[in-house]
Amino acid sequence: WRAVLAELQGDPRVTPQMQGFLSLAVAQGVMGGTLYLDVPNDLTAAQIGKRLREPIMEALARIGGDAHTFRVTVSPELSENQYAAPLTPAPEPPQHRPVGENPTADPPSSTPNRSDTRLNPKYTFDNFVIGQSNRFAHAAAVAVAEAPAKAYNPLFIYGDSGLGKTHLLHAIGDYAQSLYSGVRVRYVSSEEFTNDFINSIANNRGAAFNARYRDVDILLIDDIQFLQGKAETQEAFFHTFNTLHDHDKQVVITSDVAPKHLTGFEDRMRSRFEWGLITDVQAPDLETRIAILRKKAQSERLYIPDDVVEYIATVVSTNIRELEGALIRVSAFASLNRSDVDIQLAQNVLRDIVDQAEDNIVSPTDIITATAAYFKLTVDDLYGSSRSQAVAQARQIAMYLCRERTSLSLPKIGQLFGGRDHTTVMYAYKKISDLMKERRSIYNQVTEITTQLGRR
Ligand code: ADP
Ligand code: MG
Repeated sequence: WRAVLAELQGDPRVTPQMQGFLSLAVAQGVMGGTLYLDVPNDLTAAQIGKRLREPIMEALARIGGDAHTFRVTVSPELSENQYAAPLTPAPEPPQHRPVGENPTADPPSSTPNRSDTRLNPKYTFDNFVIGQSNRFAHAAAVAVAEAPAKAYNPLFIYGDSGLGKTHLLHAIGDYAQSLYSGVRVRYVSSEEFTNDFINSIANNRGAAFNARYRDVDILLIDDIQFLQGKAETQEAFFHTFNTLHDHDKQVVITSDVAPKHLTGFEDRMRSRFEWGLITDVQAPDLETRIAILRKKAQSERLYIPDDVVEYIATVVSTNIRELEGALIRVSAFASLNRSDVDIQLAQNVLRDIVDQAEDNIVSPTDIITATAAYFKLTVDDLYGSSRSQAVAQARQIAMYLCRERTSLSLPKIGQLFGGRDHTTVMYAYKKISDLMKERRSIYNQVTEITTQLGRR
């Protein structure tokens, strides 16, 4: 099979996208003159079995080996193995034991095996892309995994749907387990916690319930807003939380809003949430969206040209789940239609998303008006040529937002700002992107203007 792949190198029928499919095939062996290939899904089987039939047959003939034909079989385990395989080797475990003062306090018999943790191996720090929008949350999550109950306890992560909260929770569990063998981790959604609690009462199994959530070193509880107005489940969680916290066990909580905006919670609960560190995840900027798409394409072994990646990143701007969905749709459509992924195809496939986005489109005029208002300047200041530091920076922020939030090209944005060159816009975009990483104040300014634009 390796020889076949070598033969196919440079064959014009084997496009980069087809190479992607080829790389998914695993040769099982040759029997009765037939080479048997396993692939992870139907799409890949169709692509290799039909579109590449001739090139592969020809290559087999040229090689002149035992196989003169081939067969493709779908073997779904292949795709699962992809996820199960660690992307990088486990880091060296630190010498100290982080959890509890007394290393013998927890008998090994109470250590749950890996499947009890409910961790999803898909979500790790390795495949989490760091950007300005999640840098702080990511750093806090890593710190907590490295030193459970020592760094911040609880860690509270909040933000809108689809921005990586669940991913971070699982990644904390995964990383802590790789650092500290025997560490007891449990992930639970608040919905599952609620059901579990209700069932435990109905079946008189309160002790088992308590053990499940209290005999752990790290409790990861997702979407706590789900407990809104559920007084009894909140009470159960309150006791769980206190027990864990009192025993120096780590609690990590996610929510769609900050603790102070959680309605339907008792004050004593909300104030507990504020004991440790509160951090948010925000919508990713363009650069981060592009990086996430690249990483995703790489891990799914999809070949997507740069301009298509950029296009998808531009039209899907607020939700990473939807961003990934768009990528999958584009590549699946291309496979089904036996065509390569190009910008025209992407535009066709994502037309509905673009139409939807146009309903609440941000116009460059909105951006410039909002930016001017925010900095207490006039619109003409921004269009004009003043080089005063304050005006110049506000102008650069407006250019940055035009690049980020509209589909205008760099030259068009330059024209808009009094006929400036596209390199000026590029420079402004780069400069503000960089500044946002270094200065929280600039980051906040850009975020606040964006929020105001969103409300309009
Ligand atoms: P939330 O829990 O905030 O609603 P999720 O954690 O479920 O969001 O994330 C939605 C999808 O986006 C998941 O598939 C997740 O892997 C992916 N994702 C989110 N943030 C990132 C990131 N920074 N890098 C890579 N993938 C991400
Ligand atoms: Mg989630």
